[in-house]
Amino acid sequence: AKHHGKNTYRFFCRSTALASLRNLEIKDDLHKAIDHNELQLAYQPQICARSGRLVGCEALLRWHHPDKGWIPPDVFIPVAEQSGLILPLGRWVILEVCQQIKAWQDQGKIVPRVSVNVSFVQLLREDMPRLLQDCLTQQHLPPSSLTIEVTESSIMQGEVAIARLRKIRDTGVRIALDDFGTGYSSLSALKGLPIDELKIDKSFVTDLNQGSDGKAIMSAVIAMAKQLNLAVVAEGVENEFELAYLQQKGVDIIQGYYFSKPLLKAAFTAYLSQHSEF
Ligand code: C2E
Ligand code: CA
Ligand code: CA
Ligand code: CA
Repeated sequence: AKHHGKNTYRFFCRSTALASLRNLEIKDDLHKAIDHNELQLAYQPQICARSGRLVGCEALLRWHHPDKGWIPPDVFIPVAEQSGLILPLGRWVILEVCQQIKAWQDQGKIVPRVSVNVSFVQLLREDMPRLLQDCLTQQHLPPSSLTIEVTESSIMQGEVAIARLRKIRDTGVRIALDDFGTGYSSLSALKGLPIDELKIDKSFVTDLNQGSDGKAIMSAVIAMAKQLNLAVVAEGVENEFELAYLQQKGVDIIQGYYFSKPLLKAAFTAYLSQHSEF
């Protein structure tokens, strides 16, 4: 048993060393990624649960590494947050999204609003209200064209984060609370926060297929969201059964593979042509 324990320990050390080496590599390469045009955005449609119409989309960062291929955001975003690279990266995302909304508009394609993920690092250290304003004004867009998605843990960073969010919301940009239900906030903690929208985490949607416990939990999460009087979005909706349940419970907006995976610029532009209201 002792021998086994020792091996486990050694393996653990080696894999942590490998992991940090890998993070160092990612950090170095990520530094160049913006300048070398290796970053792209994918857009995932958000559909009104009642009318079936496109009401917006979420912009999701994609990195195509020259040697390693596609690197998932779950891998590089944490590295970007730890190294501070999330600041130039996040700035690029907001700039790109605003330019893209304008470009679609010029082609007669209307996307009511685009959601952008914002890290707590951006919220705490960057002049976010100003950055958002500048990008919107540059493209002659109303602030209602943008929603920023922040997680519960970002908001729980404290008063600075909340004050910044309030300032952003005062300019007319919408705020969504991402991954709702995964944190430990109570209803009273969420009350009075500057938020317009709750995005129910996809783990709850997935658990709907697990039987009555999953349904009971989802039901409670939706009830909590409704009590806060906010727009409710369900993410990660993959099948007709999940959709029907969420519609029946009064969820407002649906996002997930059932309607579409996140699509790169050209593919999403084609999607807009097919799903145009005109
Ligand atoms: P998230 O904000 O919770 O985004 C939702 C994730 O669920 C996305 O993964 C999306 O592709 C995936 N998804 C959507 N519908 C379905 C579905 O029906 N089934 C399943 N299984 N998955 C679905 P993705 O694109 O890999 O992004 C992962 C995370 O990386 C995001 O989670 C977000 O936290 C972060 N991220 C992505 N782009 C950005 C960004 O521009 N800035 C920041 N700060 N974080 C980002
Ligand atoms: Ca999100
Ligand atoms: Ca989410
Ligand atoms: Ca997430």
